[in-house]
Amino acid sequence: MSDSLRNQSLERSRSEKKIRHLYVHIPFCPHICPYCAFHVIRSSKAGTEILIPKLLEEFNSASSSLELSTIFLGGGTPTSLSTSQLEQFLTVLISKTSVDRRNLEVTSECNPSTLSLQKAQRMVDLGVNRLSIGAQSFDPTILKTLGRTHSATAITDCISTARSAGFTNINVDLIFGVPGQTLDSWRSTLEAVLSQKPQHVSCYGLTYEEDTDFFRRNKTGELGSNSLEKEMFELADEVLCQAGLVHYEISNYALPGFECRHNLAYWRGKEFLGIGPSAVSTIGGIRQRNSKFDGQSWHIEEEEVLTSEILASERMALGLRTAEGICEDNFHEEFGFSPNERWRNEIEALEKNQLLQRKPSLRLTTQGRAVADEVAVYFMK
Ligand code: SF4
Repeated sequence: MSDSLRNQSLERSRSEKKIRHLYVHIPFCPHICPYCAFHVIRSSKAGTEILIPKLLEEFNSASSSLELSTIFLGGGTPTSLSTSQLEQFLTVLISKTSVDRRNLEVTSECNPSTLSLQKAQRMVDLGVNRLSIGAQSFDPTILKTLGRTHSATAITDCISTARSAGFTNINVDLIFGVPGQTLDSWRSTLEAVLSQKPQHVSCYGLTYEEDTDFFRRNKTGELGSNSLEKEMFELADEVLCQAGLVHYEISNYALPGFECRHNLAYWRGKEFLGIGPSAVSTIGGIRQRNSKFDGQSWHIEEEEVLTSEILASERMALGLRTAEGICEDNFHEEFGFSPNERWRNEIEALEKNQLLQRKPSLRLTTQGRAVADEVAVYFMK
């Protein structure tokens, strides 16, 4: 993949509409978790010092095509950067956005052990207004199984630090379906998170991704298994919704008005620029993936031209993950055909099995939500 193709897609976007969503991949983490499938590298001062100028270079080359309304710093652990590195980087990112700062959503992921009050305050000053904390569990046994090095107290301390610094929009990430995790343990974690009154909670079922330590240990049977994933998904829905959070996407719950705008844009099929090692961009009908960080740099290494058939399939698979679902009229306007014209048999079969409903929009039923990944496969053809 050449840089010229990115230039072409940026040009196309420039001439049509500006890109409003930016993802930044910071690959460094203080400790690599055995289930993690993201591109991550053990934190090092030397590595981060090479990363920041390269990120800025990549950002600057695209900045005239941007009119950002959301920025998402993910990884990896963005808060593993030093305060001055975050400062160096965020100052440029945010100063180059032309949107009113009050309308800009800037999320940073955060590992509970990497947030000092000084760092959190500086992040708020620089414009970060949403913090996503990778808590995963409040149960020490489950944290240990997941290879996490923080404690439940570190999570609550991190949330207090974030609040003291001025964060008023906090997400807590949790994992369920961990070997050895019981329904009681999961309920306790859900209750513990609610006691912290976050605005947003994400609940992800554990997956065993290839090339991870967990994948290998799962294959040999060393890890054990958990057959309660469906019950845990339902328990999260029950406990979190009772507390007033809205289940607005398969894995995500928020107080009204605190839905993650960046991720909603992704599920709604909007264009976005990804910078940093392994980051993905979708611009002007082209998807590009950056290579991993080789210690010095990265480059665009893969590209895929997205036909309208591919985009339509992806829109169905992603849109059905959301509670708002898919408006068939809007879909028709965008793609020139309705979902029912293209997938009549699939939709009828899913409706018959009470996994999908068509009114008021095309969306999954409660039963459908529990098997969303299987339903998505129906539309990927
Ligand atoms: S902290 Fe998150 S990104 Fe880093 S290794 Fe663990 S799971 Fe992966």
